[in-house]
Amino acid sequence: MIGAIRSRSAVFLALAVAVAALIAPTAAHAQRATRARSSNAVLTVDVLDVGQGDAILIRSPEGKTALVDAGPTRDAAAQWLRAKGVDSVDLAVVTHHHLDHHGGMESVIRDWRPSYFLATDSSHTTQSWLKVLKAVKAEQITTVFPTSKPRRVELGSVTLTILPQPPHDPDDENDNSIGIRLQYGGFSMLMTGDSEPPSRKWWLENCPDLLRDCSVLKLAHHGSHNGTDSAWLDVVRPELAVVSLGAGNSYGHPHSQTLELLKAHHIPLVRTDQWGTITMVSDGESWNLVSSSLARRDGKSRGRAGVVAAGDSGRSRRR
Ligand SMILES: [Zn+2]
Repeated sequence: MIGAIRSRSAVFLALAVAVAALIAPTAAHAQRATRARSSNAVLTVDVLDVGQGDAILIRSPEGKTALVDAGPTRDAAAQWLRAKGVDSVDLAVVTHHHLDHHGGMESVIRDWRPSYFLATDSSHTTQSWLKVLKAVKAEQITTVFPTSKPRRVELGSVTLTILPQPPHDPDDENDNSIGIRLQYGGFSMLMTGDSEPPSRKWWLENCPDLLRDCSVLKLAHHGSHNGTDSAWLDVVRPELAVVSLGAGNSYGHPHSQTLELLKAHHIPLVRTDQWGTITMVSDGESWNLVSSSLARRDGKSRGRAGVVAAGDSGRSRRR
């Protein structure tokens, strides 16, 4: 549905209708989306290797695309999109206003002119963030915001549920992160930017069903000790955790506490600093890591994570 209407020259009324059709409130969570589907096309999710930051590209079987964050640098995400021949971006998301998530978004906005731009109106502002907003305005991108209710974005047959937005925190921008649950048949993935304990607790209390039983969890805040906790893992129960971070980063990510926690919960972890870009594919029934992404940089344990992480997307759980 995204991208069916290119907004550039449309009148305001048409835009309003398009947005209303695009983002409809969900009454409750999300029965599993209907299973796909017709062709051999698959969902592809790439957790890009952009160093210390986040950039996640979602490509639906129908060729619809969403980019969730764009990494810390001006060009890394754009270069990757170009190299992979991604010629359109239907939805661009900035989870929160920190540079390691929006540094590459101005280039993407100007060069790809996405149909929709999803961000919060958090009061946290920097010069680089203002440049992104300026580009959004100049390119006349339709901006949409998360609300206190869950919202559903249909990306072809892939459903992105935008979690209800926790109350604005003027002191910690990480806790203003947008949360998204991706669902495609039995495959699901949860990504919540750099959310810290207060916002995660709010989601656990206010929309636990939207968090439950995800195939893959993108660790919040690059594997920091405040990006993952036991209560979170007990509800999300991921089969695999992925994390985006820079090799040898000065923050000490991922934190040893996080690694221990994952170990205690028997959740394997795949890291961009060790594996480069992490790619997952799903036909709505089964899912896996793509073998070409498994050329581990240090040359060790080749393919190991692929074996560990392959799932049937059914609800047959390890625990
Ligand atoms: Zn970050």
